[in-house]
Amino acid sequence: MRADYDILVVGGGPAGCEAARAAAADGARVLVVEKDPDIGVPVRCAEGISVRALREFYEPNPVFCRQTVTEYHLVAPNGVRVEVTGIGEGVILDRKVFDRMVAEDAARAGAQIITNANATGAHRDKDGVVVSFEGMPDVKAKILIGADGTESRAGRWLGLKTACRPHDMETAAQYVLAGVPIVPTRFEMHFGTQIAPGGYLWVFPKGEGVANVGLGISGQHSKHTTALEYLDRSVARLYPNAAIVGRILGGISCSGGLKQIVDDNVMLVGDAAHQANPLTGGGIATGLKAGRIAGRIAAHAIRTGDCSKSRLMPYHEEWDDRLGNLHRRFYRIKEAVFNIPDETLNDLAEVVNKVPKEGRTMNKILARVLAKKPGVLLDLARIMF
Ligand SMILES: Cc1cc2nc3c(=O)[nH]c(=O)nc-3n(C[C@H](O)[C@H](O)[C@H](O)COP(=O)(O)OP(=O)(O)OC[C@H]3O[C@@H](n4cnc5c(N)ncnc54)[C@H](O)[C@@H]3O)c2cc1C
Repeated sequence: MRADYDILVVGGGPAGCEAARAAAADGARVLVVEKDPDIGVPVRCAEGISVRALREFYEPNPVFCRQTVTEYHLVAPNGVRVEVTGIGEGVILDRKVFDRMVAEDAARAGAQIITNANATGAHRDKDGVVVSFEGMPDVKAKILIGADGTESRAGRWLGLKTACRPHDMETAAQYVLAGVPIVPTRFEMHFGTQIAPGGYLWVFPKGEGVANVGLGISGQHSKHTTALEYLDRSVARLYPNAAIVGRILGGISCSGGLKQIVDDNVMLVGDAAHQANPLTGGGIATGLKAGRIAGRIAAHAIRTGDCSKSRLMPYHEEWDDRLGNLHRRFYRIKEAVFNIPDETLNDLAEVVNKVPKEGRTMNKILARVLAKKPGVLLDLARIMF
């Protein structure tokens, strides 16, 4: 029987919708299914993105950008601040608006979108894949693009190994705080084993007196104290008078990437493929990038009438060339940085603060940090040059 669609995208986040837009723009018949009633809701994100990365897809616009960020502070466990330069501008998005806009662009390119559509399983048949739903008829497609986020099951349904080791799963908790004494143009990252073991605490400004304040801790550290408990302690210390106007709990796979992200009739994109930057946990730009490549390669496979693993493999190869290989190096750097004892980080902050501000770039700071871990210097050199 003829497939209902060429491509079925499970998950209406940025990665899925950009994949759908790219494939539909290239002539494929595409359906996106999203389990939640509204694209972009609930937000499970601190909403930060660099302007450089955003510009590959959209010009920054106040319609979906809440705040521009121009200052970056790293805060040592003892509270000493290091202002880092040379990073370029960032923005804090309004993801409710942003994600909806990416979906609208996919629809304008010709993709169909159904919300309230929870995919519950998939299997291959001779023409492609058959996906089942809660309270909805099955959908047949030649290619399934799994864009169903951190808790992805789409890959597993079709035999891909997608599990994330607890060590690599950053468990995250975040409050939207109002009435806080923040500098609206300043982004902050706080480090320390008592603050966020195996991760960091972030303060992302969202306008005058409002900020996303959250943290991620490595899953191995969340057995006795949860991410939310760590966050409560820091919020009580840093912003005792804050009003909590929003709360998010979530996870970010910081494994550096899956070994296999395509197989016959299936591709994984975004968090479903562990494509967030393992050092920062940022996955908006990386998901958009992966989605765009995957959508284009999928549409090409449809045109050739061959949706086998080998035909879809150029997506994996292009991803590795653009970011996948870099992420594997970031992973090794993360393992080194997040294991540095608090006292050493405190000493480093003092040392780095003696460098004139204009020379305090992230690369130079990382180089100093990693000088304590010589094995990782080679990776760093590869990233920098
Ligand atoms: C607390 C926190 C803070 C973060 N902060 C940042 C940040 O500041 N900057 C940054 O770049 N990244 C950040 N990230 C990561 C970022 O949010 C993700 O990397 C990004 O959203 C990935 O996009 P995606 O499209 O792959 O997945 P998602 O945005 O998670 O979208 C997946 C979609 O699939 C849907 N879905 C799931 N299962 C099914 C199903 N069975 N059927 C149908 N639909 C389904 C979900 O409802 C969801 O809408 C953060 C993550 C967390 C948890």
